Amino acid sequence: MPSIHNVVIIGSGPAGLTAAIYTARANLNPLVLEGEPSSTSDQPGGQLMLTTEVENFPGFPEGIMGPELMENFRSQAVRFGADARQEKVSRVDLSERPFKIWVGDPEAPEPSYLAHSVIVSTGARSLMLDLPRERELIGHGVSTCATCDGFFFRDHHIAVVGGGDSAVEEASFLTKFADKVTLIHRRDELRASKIMQERAFKNPKIEMLWDHQVSAVHGASKLEGITVRNVKTGEEAALGVTGLFVAIGHRPNTDLFNGVLTTDENGYLVTGPGTATNVDGVFACGDVQDHTYRQAITAAGSGCMAAIDTERWLEANGHHV
Ligand code: NAP
Repeated sequence: MPSIHNVVIIGSGPAGLTAAIYTARANLNPLVLEGEPSSTSDQPGGQLMLTTEVENFPGFPEGIMGPELMENFRSQAVRFGADARQEKVSRVDLSERPFKIWVGDPEAPEPSYLAHSVIVSTGARSLMLDLPRERELIGHGVSTCATCDGFFFRDHHIAVVGGGDSAVEEASFLTKFADKVTLIHRRDELRASKIMQERAFKNPKIEMLWDHQVSAVHGASKLEGITVRNVKTGEEAALGVTGLFVAIGHRPNTDLFNGVLTTDENGYLVTGPGTATNVDGVFACGDVQDHTYRQAITAAGSGCMAAIDTERWLEANGHHV
């Protein structure tokens, strides 16, 4: 049997790596299972690996590139003794102590790691339209976060896709910068709350494009336009936008914990008090438990909270080194 870690952190975005910095500095020798490189937001480093410039992370007055920021988080955690491994967790057993964690073959008889406590920071992924070139152009005209990227689209014509509260909120927010925002929705009525709809309808910079889907995104190194298709007539048209904000929802990365950790009606982990989940000794932080703020700084803040909660829990349960 492998030795028992004080704390295993699953996920390595701002939440997980902040938890790693704090638990490392508390001499807990955290093991961070970072995930494996991929083109989605559950890769090591999380969603910031898919962004370009980050201008709103405090402490960087000139801004910093998303991947560089995450490399800084990681080296800070490693400097204090965190053991960060690019391995993807395939299965967990939280039903008895010590907790069991598998990477690689989930059916292997022996778990890969044992842990007194676990911090879940597996993040969330933005749902995408799954069009060719869409992911490659993230950070180059395609975005999933108006708060993060709106500033770069001053005086541009941009499009937002979706009909829920996120899409309408992002479209309204983006009118602070853009000249014109076309809100593209696949039906002829919005899902968003009435008050947000009214606000959008009154906004002279927002133009509704009902019954349309985006059928193609264009551009080699940056977005140069999109094609939209009328879902009723099948007719296609070009839209010369330089920004495309995809706001069709998010999905928290909780598959590993199905039926074990309590989730809310949107599938996010429920935490409280603090960052505690329903399983004693398992804590959660970052976007996997937050569908409201979803910012790097709020994820990092909750990672700090999870580390402190974990440290106190370990001490209270006689595991402190
Ligand atoms: P959502 O409510 O699930 O809405 C997703 C929207 O995207 C829907 O309009 C859906 O169309 C559309 N859509 C889904 N897949 C699509 C596809 N492949 N192509 C084109 N369109 C697609 O997601 P959300 O707006 O992110 O909101 C999530 C939750 O957070 C909701 O409970 C929401 O109320 C809440 N929220 C609240 C606020 C606020 O109160 N300030 C702000 C943001 C979010 P259909 O309508 O046709 O299904």
